[in-house]
Order: sequence, then C-alpha cells, then structure tokens
Amino acid sequence: MKRKTVCDEPKIENGELICPFCGGEFLHHGIVNVYTRREEDAPVSRVSVDDDGNLSTKQIGDNDSDPTERRGAVTIEFRCEQCERKFQMEVRQNRGRTIIINSDIPKKGRKYT
Ligand SMILES: [Zn+2]
Repeated sequence: MKRKTVCDEPKIENGELICPFCGGEFLHHGIVNVYTRREEDAPVSRVSVDDDGNLSTKQIGDNDSDPTERRGAVTIEFRCEQCERKFQMEVRQNRGRTIIINSDIPKKGRKYT
C-alpha cells in the first residue's frame, strides 16, 4: 500500500461514518472512484465521478492513486465539516478478502464542495 492509512477500522455509530480525526459526524462527499481490472494483476482503470456529476475514465496503471494491489476497489473522499480535514474511505479487495480503511487522499484530483 502506497498511501498512509489514517484509520484501519473506520468507525460507524448509529449507521453514520465518523471522522477519524475529530469524531465529527458531518462529512461531505468529494470524488467517488471505482478501480477495476479485467483480471487479477491486469492494468487498472479508474472511473471517477466528481461532486459536479462529471464522469471520467482513465487507465492509470500502477501509481500512487491506485489503492488496489491486485484486484478492484472503491474510494469515497470526505471532508469533515467540524475539523476541515480530508480523508477517503477505501473498500478494496486483496487475495479474496475485502478490506475497508480510511486513508489519505492522493494529491492529484482533490476537489471538495
Ligand atoms: Zn473531523
């Protein structure tokens, strides 16, 4: 994993995701990314939807914005209304397991409302 893990056990209270930095519950969505591969270890394609509803698709190969190791992933970026810090929740697959963590956000493509 190339990015820093902020929290390896995302906290959910009463069905609400909690900010890993301050415990706040008012989180704003940013970009949603879907990382997919035709087969294990194949090149990665990323489909992104930003907060304006713009859709983009890109073959990204192996770089810092790719949270997958061999399979697929979904990331949702968040900004906390209380502490203003940003993070993303990752749901990724690795060796048949599904892993959910909060991590930092790659520097490219940061955008929030
Ligand atoms: Zn916070």
